[in-house]
Amino acid sequence: MRIRSYDTDKAILYLVATPIGNLKDMSFRAIETLKSVDKIYAEDTRNSKILFDHYDIKTIYESYHEFSQEKTSKIIEELKNGMKIAIISDAGLPIISDPGFKLVKDAIDNNIAVSTIPGASAGISALISSGLVAMPYTFYGFLDSKESKRKEELNDLKYIKHTLIFYEAPHRIFDTLNNMLEILGDRYICIARELTKTFEEYIRGNISELLKLESLKGEMVLIVSGYEEKSIITNKFVQIDEFISLGYKPNDAIKETAKMLNVDKKELYKEYIDYKNNKLR
Ligand code: SAM
Repeated sequence: MRIRSYDTDKAILYLVATPIGNLKDMSFRAIETLKSVDKIYAEDTRNSKILFDHYDIKTIYESYHEFSQEKTSKIIEELKNGMKIAIISDAGLPIISDPGFKLVKDAIDNNIAVSTIPGASAGISALISSGLVAMPYTFYGFLDSKESKRKEELNDLKYIKHTLIFYEAPHRIFDTLNNMLEILGDRYICIARELTKTFEEYIRGNISELLKLESLKGEMVLIVSGYEEKSIITNKFVQIDEFISLGYKPNDAIKETAKMLNVDKKELYKEYIDYKNNKLR
């Protein structure tokens, strides 16, 4: 199915990028589009009003949440009636850890043109200045808020060689870093904080080093180096000791390390005991 975006009289759904902290990151085209459409749907109208007032955007607007199927159907009806509509989220690109996916899907299913007005997005912006290998990368967004689910997700990501991009909230950052250390190993990471704002900051180092920080506040992206056999486990015994220092019982530490390395846990147990005995001699 081919759909041209700019057949002038036809309905169109614009996905418009908005700034991730610095109002000046709004593009000319984004402003123009928001001024010219018939209606804007915004994730949180209180936040977007600041943007509208700043750029003198007078278009009518309404709120839009991912989970409102009723609202999605209403927007599709408006598009079918020929309206030009823009959706925006609170920051950055709609859909990227933000609402809008179902609407885009339904618009495409109804043969309606969908077009992106590009601009800032926190993940990619953080990636390119992190200093970590930029390609290939895996963008993950937010890990689950429940620890058990978060650990499962990290286990699924453990052997991916790509640089990993995560979003995280400040109240969960240390829990997440601890889970990453436990499951991914002591990888090199970059935390990009408060991008485009006055207190923008990049914090680089191994996970264990960053865990020593007293606090981490503000909005942040985590860029995590990908799986590398050498870097994840320089020495299997060091890895076991590391698990033990994190509070694991020795047997569980050996079990986890064996799982990580895909080796027999009984063999590893014997090797570890020998290693410890030799060290004591
Ligand atoms: N749609 C947005 C985008 O395109 O990046 C992401 C929205 S998501 C709900 C919000 C998360 O993005 C924050 O919790 C944080 O992890 C990240 N984020 C947004 N703005 C940021 C900024 N200025 N600096 C660092 N991270 C930011």
